[in-house]
Amino acid sequence: MRIGRAAALTDTGRRRLDNEDAFVLEPPLFAVADGMGGAQAGELAARLAVTTFEQAGSAARDPESLAELLRLANERIFQRATSDATAAGMGTTATVVAVDERAGTVTLAHVGDSRAYRIRDGLLERLTEDHSLVAELVRGGTITEDEALVHPARSVITRVLGTDPTVDVDTRTTDLAPGDVVVLCSDGLSGMVRDDAILSLVTGAEGPAEATEALVAAANAAGGDDNVTVVVFEVLEGEPPERPAREPAPETTVAHVDAPPASPPADDGVIRHGPGRGSRWPALLLIAAILLVAALALWWGISR
Ligand code: MN
Repeated sequence: MRIGRAAALTDTGRRRLDNEDAFVLEPPLFAVADGMGGAQAGELAARLAVTTFEQAGSAARDPESLAELLRLANERIFQRATSDATAAGMGTTATVVAVDERAGTVTLAHVGDSRAYRIRDGLLERLTEDHSLVAELVRGGTITEDEALVHPARSVITRVLGTDPTVDVDTRTTDLAPGDVVVLCSDGLSGMVRDDAILSLVTGAEGPAEATEALVAAANAAGGDDNVTVVVFEVLEGEPPERPAREPAPETTVAHVDAPPASPPADDGVIRHGPGRGSRWPALLLIAAILLVAALALWWGISR
């Protein structure tokens, strides 16, 4: 198999003033990052992540290399966040996929709630599991997918790059076949548009470029509450083209700097990056959110 056409599109949406999302479109490597933080910090966090991924080029392909790449991005963002007061507390999600055209596989690594989907034979499959509060509630059977889309705490994510010295990265490798379409997106799409609508928009599009436009338009038509970013590529029959071998840039292997944080960010492990501005929930808001979630859980339990 080989990668066919590929396209990416990012949009500020209808409610935000800035776009803190970023993407990588460098076949066989693709990524989406959704930054968060005050002022321009979220933008910086997402940019530090995608720059790290771009520097690795096609060198990172196996799960451990991709996980290492996310850990490296985490380290860079964390160091910057703890040495630059204007960047304190910033972070970003990251979903990175590397296609091995000869093996017919794709390897994914991700942290946060940016997603990857594989569309095959008219069916859409999620390749990533959101690291978010509502995803945990769905997995636990407390709420449904549809309820998650409108849940008041839907923007709370439980894992992120850049807010802690270390990070747990999820990885997986799965097969790709001719005819497959892979979609990466930030929650500005998946939080506004249901999976079945994403599927029909992609399968109804003439190709990846048209698909990205249709998906962004759908997110904005649904309200455009958040920055929206989509990367779409198709998988075709045939031999992979000669891709210039890209050596990883020397900066990819940075020495670990032991920079003790001047004022480490609050370690509540919860980041908000949905509608509204600001990076972290103040403690009181967070407690209120947890109480609300508990109350809703109880209510759902009683009403069924
Ligand atoms: Mn977002």
